[in-house]
Amino acid sequence: MGKNDADVLILGAGPAGLVLGNLLRAAGIDCLILERRSREHVENRSRAGFLAANSVRVLTENGLADGLLRNGAEHDTCAFRSDRAEFELNYRELGRGEVHTVYPQQFLVTDLIAEFLSRGGEIRFGAEVSSVSGTDATVIADDLLLRAKYIAGCDGRRGVSRRSVPARVFPRDHGISWLALLAEAPPSMSATGYAIHERGFAGHMTRTSTVTRYYLEVPRGEDPDDWTDERVWDELNLRMRAEQYGPLKQGAIVERRIVDMGSHVMDKIQRGNLFLVGDAASLISPAAAKGANLAVLEAEILARALIAAHRKKDTAPLDRYSAECLPRIWHAQEFSHWLINLLHGPSGHDDEAVFQRALRDARLESLRVSRAHQDFFAENYVGI
Ligand code: FAD
Repeated sequence: MGKNDADVLILGAGPAGLVLGNLLRAAGIDCLILERRSREHVENRSRAGFLAANSVRVLTENGLADGLLRNGAEHDTCAFRSDRAEFELNYRELGRGEVHTVYPQQFLVTDLIAEFLSRGGEIRFGAEVSSVSGTDATVIADDLLLRAKYIAGCDGRRGVSRRSVPARVFPRDHGISWLALLAEAPPSMSATGYAIHERGFAGHMTRTSTVTRYYLEVPRGEDPDDWTDERVWDELNLRMRAEQYGPLKQGAIVERRIVDMGSHVMDKIQRGNLFLVGDAASLISPAAAKGANLAVLEAEILARALIAAHRKKDTAPLDRYSAECLPRIWHAQEFSHWLINLLHGPSGHDDEAVFQRALRDARLESLRVSRAHQDFFAENYVGI
């Protein structure tokens, strides 16, 4: 095939596109990845960090886990702090006994790019796709027309491919915003910390021994630059109840961005020869750390279907792609909603606000004391 053709064109070099590309290359399928950013940019973009057991399985079974098995750390405990108590749940001892592997997304992306190139794949960085057609399997990138048998839209939440799939869309705005922070500081707790506080939610998530992710619930429309390092640490210490449980280990805040908590699900994620994967297929709030894990899961499902079509001319798995993925997407959305409702409550003193906060407190108390509730949490927190 010529330079501007490939069996599979993959839009986007995030976790979805790179896992898919690696699985296809291992099966000898010719594929080309188009990525609008530079290699340096995508290899340094810090986002997710918690890989579920299923993601680790997919990566391990496909020879993509050397880095994460060498440098990732197993993680198995959450701590919930509120004005009533602190309690910890060790999910290795609950549910199905599965754990997370903490491995920052930018490290995984770096590993996946190197492996894809060593498997003979091609990535065009700085190639912005402006339009996609699933019916004739063409893409326009930087005024160039590219053709393929199949197109995988892995271009994330702001990509172009989802607009080419006529589907019923279910957007959901949770009305909650988080200030997402990266601190050059070691973790302050061995657990993932969820603090429920009258001033709003605060979270602590391990990334590496020198970098920790924190979240602060803030009003919608907040300017992240209004949050100086000093203000961030004062607020985090207050909401994480440092007086009671010990001060946080502080360091420079090297990233601050607003994440508006929203979801977005479509009733189908394919059209003709175009298939959506990862954030392009569905958007999920980062509350339950499901986004990158859904991306890996869907990439595996699509890879299997494309390999069946390529090797056996069997297109039935491709026809079933939306039906295979959507129940898993809804499952993840359901748990994400459950967790959002556990961690947040409306402020104010009107009946509705007081009622909602009382429900949240009852839910939290049930999680503290009920083994059945804890098993539900553990299974859904690590699994999809
Ligand atoms: P992306 O990673 O967004 O990749 C899409 C790629 O497509 C990008 O490289 C982009 O540049 C490229 N692209 C876009 N448009 C075009 C175009 N027109 N032409 C060419 N290329 C294009 N998930 C978890 O599972 N666990 C977590 O702990 C977690 N924490 C998170 C914390 C934060 C602060 C955020 C913001 C997200 C978090 N997530 C987490 C979500 C996770 O990062 C995403 O779900 C994941 O990146 C999705 O992967 P993807 O490959 O589908 O999309």
